[in-house]
Formats: sequence, structure tokens, C-alpha cells
Amino acid sequence: MGEDTMGTMRLVVVGAAGRMGRVLIRAVSEMPGAELSAAVERAGAPEIGDDAGTLAGLAPLGVAVTDDPAAAFAEADGVLDFTLPAATVAFAELAAEAGIAHVIGTTGLASSGDAAIEKAAETIAIVKSGNMSLGVNLVAGLVEKAARALGEDFDIEVLEMHHRRKIDAPSGTALLLGKAAAAGRNVPLDERAVYAREGETGARETGAIGFATLRGGTVIGEHNVIFAGEGERVVLSHIAEDRTIFARGAVKAALWAHGRGPGLYSMADVLGLND
Ligand code: NAD
Repeated sequence: MGEDTMGTMRLVVVGAAGRMGRVLIRAVSEMPGAELSAAVERAGAPEIGDDAGTLAGLAPLGVAVTDDPAAAFAEADGVLDFTLPAATVAFAELAAEAGIAHVIGTTGLASSGDAAIEKAAETIAIVKSGNMSLGVNLVAGLVEKAARALGEDFDIEVLEMHHRRKIDAPSGTALLLGKAAAAGRNVPLDERAVYAREGETGARETGAIGFATLRGGTVIGEHNVIFAGEGERVVLSHIAEDRTIFARGAVKAALWAHGRGPGLYSMADVLGLND
């Protein structure tokens, strides 16, 4: 592990050329207490060797994009990871070997991937969240409260929209909000979730938590949690206007995890919403 002597946390951005990767490079460069130590892309990516600052639309930072995560992690204090499920599992293992904090924004992990991350979290601090923004994590708390207060007379539906290039559904945020609704009702989400409907579905089951997914254009992320009762609806909404909210949240999570003991933490822990 790179020991922190100057009080600045050295962070590696993996998936540096991605939509989030570029925004993460900017956030790391701008936020006090953090500095970019390396930028990693997959082997064969056209951006290997490019300057990470230039890639992110900044002045050159003197950090060339590399395809060697192990060497990058050995010189760092933490990793910011918004990539793909298989890559994230491999990065968790490498981060555990290097003994550095791992912040995971990647969504769409299968349960085997989650198990591998839990294992790595026995060795290092991992912060994993389907949404790193303050606003969504606040809305999740409100959803839990509303689900508890309104009970099963109000049907819960989670509606989300994202840009046309998103590859998983429902979004990690929709699942986070669905879990919050289920927690408010003291039920496991898996037993109540209805992820899609088509054809002769029959009437809606009492207590179901439904999901609906829209994809198109350049939408960064919109979520509505609808509580539909007899004659009235309560709608809790979040609209992401800029990816910077996720990137700043991720850097904040890394700074929070720096020097913290092993464990799998959420953004609610980072933001103190669980206190
Ligand atoms: P993207 O496709 O633009 O970027 C992913 C990048 O990862 C690509 O550049 C790709 O080349 C790189 N990559 C893939 N495998 C790699 C490997 N083995 N090593 C290094 N780099 C590798 O995707 P995106 O829109 O930036 O989203 C990335 C992930 O982050 C998605 O799962 C998305 O749902 C999630 N996301 C989470 C939040 C949050 O707040 N938690 C917010 C936005 C996006």
C-alpha cells in the first residue's frame, strides 16, 4: 500500500476513458485531499498512453493511461471504479492484494460478483453503491419512510430512464430505491419485485414492487418512486443533470474510506445517513 505522508490520497481511476472515468479524473483533480496517481483502461483500448488530463478535457496531468492495474494499485491509496461487472470483480481482488480502498460504482453485478466483493471486503474497505449522489441517497431514506408509513394500500412502482447506451436494467439506482421501499415494509425485495410485465399478466399482486425501464437519448438518470393509493399518488423523484454528482460522491467515499478498517460500506454510511 502506498503510505500517505503528505495527507493527500492517491487515487487510481479505472475505466478512465469511459463516460464516468473522464468525469472522475476531473473530480479527483479538482477536489482537495485527492490526487490522480494513475489512470487505467482495458488492454487494447485506443486511449492507452494518452495523457489522462487531456482525455478528461483538462490541461495535461503527466499521468499516462496504462493497462497495468496491479502496478498502478501498488503505488496508490485507493481505486475509483465505474467499469463493467467482470472488471470490477478482478479489481476488487487486486485492491485487496494491494491493501487499498475500493470505491465501486459499477452496476449490474450478478450475485457471484457480489460474493467476490464481499470476500475482498474482509481485507479492505469497499464502498459500493448503485448511486453515489447525495440526492438519491436522501430520496432512498424518504422512500423507506414513505413505504413504512403508507403500507400495502399504496402500490409501489419504480420508474427510471437512462441514455441509450446503458447496458443493464433496471438501473442500480432503481434497485437501490426498490430495496429501500422493501426495507420500509420489512420484506426482502427479491420476494416482491416484478421487473417486467408483458401480455396477460393478471391483476397486480398486493405488496408487489414494480419496475419499469425507459432507455433513450442522452438522459443521465431519472428516477420516480410512485406510491399509488385509492384516489391519490405520492411521487418521490430524482433527476441527475450532470455526472459530476456521482464523481464527487465517489471521491468523497474514497476520502472517507482512507484508513478505515475492512468492510463493505454504502454511500449512506459515507453521508452519515445511517447514524
Ligand atoms: P462506459 O462504458 O462509458 O465506461 C466504462 C469504461 O470501463 C470503458 O471505457 C471501458 O473500456 C472500461 N473498462 C471495461 N473493462 C475494463 C478493464 N478490464 N480494465 C479497465 N477498464 C475497463 O460506462 P459508464 O457510463 O461510464 O458507466 C460505467 C458503470 O458505472 C456502469 O455500470 C454504470 O451503470 C455505472 N454508473 C454508476 C453510477 C453510480 O453513481 N453508482 C453513476 C453512473 C454510472
